[in-house]
Amino acid sequence: MCIFCDIAAGSVEAEIVFEDERTLAFLDHRPLFPGHTLLIPREHHETLVDLPDDLIQPLFSNTRLLARAIRDAMGAEGTFVAMNNKVSQSVPHLHVHVVPRRRKDGLRGFFWPRHRYKNGEMAASAQAIRSALTELAST
Ligand code: AMP
Repeated sequence: MCIFCDIAAGSVEAEIVFEDERTLAFLDHRPLFPGHTLLIPREHHETLVDLPDDLIQPLFSNTRLLARAIRDAMGAEGTFVAMNNKVSQSVPHLHVHVVPRRRKDGLRGFFWPRHRYKNGEMAASAQAIRSALTELAST
């Protein structure tokens, strides 16, 4: 159990904006901008890689639904959709952040510095990922 399990169980209060059988969405209590919402599976799964197959469709289709609703409701131009997995994840219950965005909204500093690949590093990285995918497909 964790704080988001408690919210899903109704034992901790949250500003719930959406719920269905498998998922629940509520306002982040320390938002980047008003309307910043967290969508969670009701079941406790820590990160994306732990998510069972049957939750992928409800979670992603409800992410899309919320992205539309939050954009419209908050008068935003778009959204930022994100998920921390382990690193920078402060609550160990998978949650999708859906954040309303506007141009020049000041969130630039939220993004990480970008780097150029060194010689051969891009091809080696791509090959390592392809190999890992092949390995996963065979298990
Ligand atoms: P992350 O850092 O990606 O794990 O995001 C966790 C988010 O959960 C943070 O943005 C917190 O502000 C938010 N949060 C933590 N506890 C609560 C709570 N009880 N109700 C609403 N939002 C919460």
